Amino acid sequence: MGGYLYPFMNEVYVYIHIPFCEKKCIYCDFLSIAGKSIEKEYFQSLTRDIESSDILKSSVVKTVYFGGGTPSYVDERYIEKTLNTVAKTSKAFNPEEITIELNPESTDKNKISFYRSIGVNRASLGVQAMDDVVLNISGRIHDAAQAQRAASLLRKSFDNLNLDFIVGLPKSSMKTVKENLKLIEKVNPDHVSVYMLEVHKETPLFSLLKRGKIRLPSDDEMAEMFDFMMEGLKGLGFERYEISNFAKEGKRSLHNLSYWLSKDYIGFGASAGGHVGNYRYVKTLNIKEYIENPFALSYENHNTDCEEFKETLFMGLRLIEGLSIKDLEKRFSNLLEGFLMYISGDELFSIEDGRVKLSTIGLDFSSIAFEKIVGWNCE
Ligand code: SF4
Repeated sequence: MGGYLYPFMNEVYVYIHIPFCEKKCIYCDFLSIAGKSIEKEYFQSLTRDIESSDILKSSVVKTVYFGGGTPSYVDERYIEKTLNTVAKTSKAFNPEEITIELNPESTDKNKISFYRSIGVNRASLGVQAMDDVVLNISGRIHDAAQAQRAASLLRKSFDNLNLDFIVGLPKSSMKTVKENLKLIEKVNPDHVSVYMLEVHKETPLFSLLKRGKIRLPSDDEMAEMFDFMMEGLKGLGFERYEISNFAKEGKRSLHNLSYWLSKDYIGFGASAGGHVGNYRYVKTLNIKEYIENPFALSYENHNTDCEEFKETLFMGLRLIEGLSIKDLEKRFSNLLEGFLMYISGDELFSIEDGRVKLSTIGLDFSSIAFEKIVGWNCE
């Protein structure tokens, strides 16, 4: 309907960052702080930020995504107010998908019905691991039973539900992965995200590892767990459509597809990123600074065609079906041929049926494939 009624308007995908959590997890490098004593001030700045967006004022909103942090941790009336501000400010508000991220400990019936009443139609629950030992050592504040309860409650109210998992957390094993799959079988979500644990500097996990206080599964164990999870999901009717994402038919994440397909998306809130045309930006990474000045940026760049092409490849080659060569030709006609020659014969890539994508080996070694793209000189 949006495309028909508003044929001359830009379409945008809107991300809103909520940087508050009850407690920090030891592996987390997302921008968030423990506690919500400054939520009022933060949401005031968020409103200012949204109301001042010229892009929003001239665009039709396709999706809204509340991510974090833990959006379900803050007072739900702030979510309502923020959504109303997006709707009022945009030229046309006609989202097919409005997602909110939740954590098990802050999911309850009242919140769920409130979210549904304001138009949220997709829920994304952070389960991470169905294993109390793993959850506890990772600094999560819920246990597996709470995750199961929250997932079942959400299943009753949402016909579009995602569950998030992390493979490779400390103390995790094949037993953890089997319990994850049991939950998925029982709850039957529409979408599952499975991330491999990444260890970031500046996190407690990093220093615990450095001091030998904690141990992670080996690379082989991690790969075995990820493969088992992947096979299990396949058996349960999920299609792997992105390196870390699995969906039932018709349930791919519309919002995340806007990133992978390098569409125009705008981000509000500290650390939120945006991409409009060749312009990419990231908001300030400092919450206090955001409260003082919601327009402060930590990064911005008007990409050259070469930079834009590479970023389009980094994102798009995460999709299992890769990118359409015809679509790339429209945007990057002067660069495409050189790139296709650069990767021709490389076992990490494949070119078939008019698409360029990572090969099966490339999917297993995606970081090497992406490094190869970085090394390509297209300026
Ligand atoms: S709940 Fe999520 S955002 Fe918050 S600290 Fe844990 S991993 Fe980070």
